[in-house]
Amino acid sequence: MSLSPPNDFALCELVQSEFERMFGRAPESILRVPGRINLIGEHVDYQGGTVLPVAIGLYLMASVARLDVAEVRVWSGEWAGENRNPSVIDLDVLLARKGKDSWLNYIIGVLSGLKAKGISIPGFEMVLVSTLPAGAGLSSSAALETITALAVEALTGESLDVVERALICQQAEHQFAGVPCGIMDQLAVAACRAGHALRIDCRDLSMEWIPLPEEYALVVAATGVKHALVDGEYQKRREECAEACVRLEVLSLRDVSFSDLESVRAQRLGERLRKRAYHVVSEVMRVSAFCEALKRRNVEEISQIMRSGHQSLRDDFEVSCPELDALVEAAYRFGPPHTMPGSRMTGGGFGGSTVSLVHVDRVADFKSHMEAAYRHEFGRCPQVFATRAAAGAEILSVYRGTTFSSKRTP
Ligand code: ADP
Ligand code: MG
Repeated sequence: MSLSPPNDFALCELVQSEFERMFGRAPESILRVPGRINLIGEHVDYQGGTVLPVAIGLYLMASVARLDVAEVRVWSGEWAGENRNPSVIDLDVLLARKGKDSWLNYIIGVLSGLKAKGISIPGFEMVLVSTLPAGAGLSSSAALETITALAVEALTGESLDVVERALICQQAEHQFAGVPCGIMDQLAVAACRAGHALRIDCRDLSMEWIPLPEEYALVVAATGVKHALVDGEYQKRREECAEACVRLEVLSLRDVSFSDLESVRAQRLGERLRKRAYHVVSEVMRVSAFCEALKRRNVEEISQIMRSGHQSLRDDFEVSCPELDALVEAAYRFGPPHTMPGSRMTGGGFGGSTVSLVHVDRVADFKSHMEAAYRHEFGRCPQVFATRAAAGAEILSVYRGTTFSSKRTP
């Protein structure tokens, strides 16, 4: 199994030729935004905790060119179905839509946010091509938001600060897609660096890039089960954490210690809220311990921290599902920590994917092992792919006959 991302060059060519086919002219810019997995720090971003995402070599790509009318015409291969015409967004209206075109809401939301910042949005045409599966917990929604902002930046010459852009994208997801997400996804897909994990403090939005050991690949196994964040479970967990804060009289669970959870005041929580709070408190500590273990390259600790992180999501936060649990168990059966240092569910939960660290020499064996284990239990094959920590969002210049060159890594 190849460890390199899908052929980037072919994808650049495809997004350019699809633009030419759809709009009958060459694009002005090509943009690329990766997906992300989170190594540790799940369901803590909205409590001001720290998280540790890594960009992966699956991408959403866009080709764009200006238009003289106040419209955005966008065509997404994956979402077009039988529709051969682009969807049209009227820049004078920018109202969220309901129904089958709801993916446009992410784009409309970002354009509205940019407009509110005083950026004048030009009309433009955009084609989207993706190797990043949607709804798999790999952050395709944040990639779509970020690529929209980058398109405007590329066409206008505006250059947003990475945090400012992420906040606009997050607002778009809250207000136009109805998903009250934290800030991790939008920052991760923009700010990650190749070969590194990105530690984000979700309270002050400070960031630290931590090198990953080169001998390990990231292996993502997708359950094929669609997560249901919009359906309310995510919102429920957020509300439970907020309620736990009220009862503990703190602003966020990040301020809570294990001894606080044993205090008299913590008796007000009741069993369910205590479990939710326990997950957040323990997960925040796991992120710090994991970063230290990474820096010391201590694979036994990494293994133990990822395992207890998954158990906490399964038992205390209750956002796992049988498919995720089976994949994690299968990963730990594969081998000792130096071949498979750790595995856990990644993303919001209720389906989606797991991430495992696997020694580069054993990736092909690991993939077969995971497929066989999952097929045995669920009668179908999971999607398993290996990747390295990729670079964050980039504006690429248009193909000029020799190469696509990167204009900027934010
Ligand atoms: P995730 O971010 O984990 O992939 P979400 O449910 O948050 O899952 O976001 C998925 C949604 O993002 C899709 O339902 C769709 O509306 C939008 N989306 C993702 N990728 C694309 C794409 N290539 N083209 C159009 N819309 C997309
Ligand atoms: Mg998403």
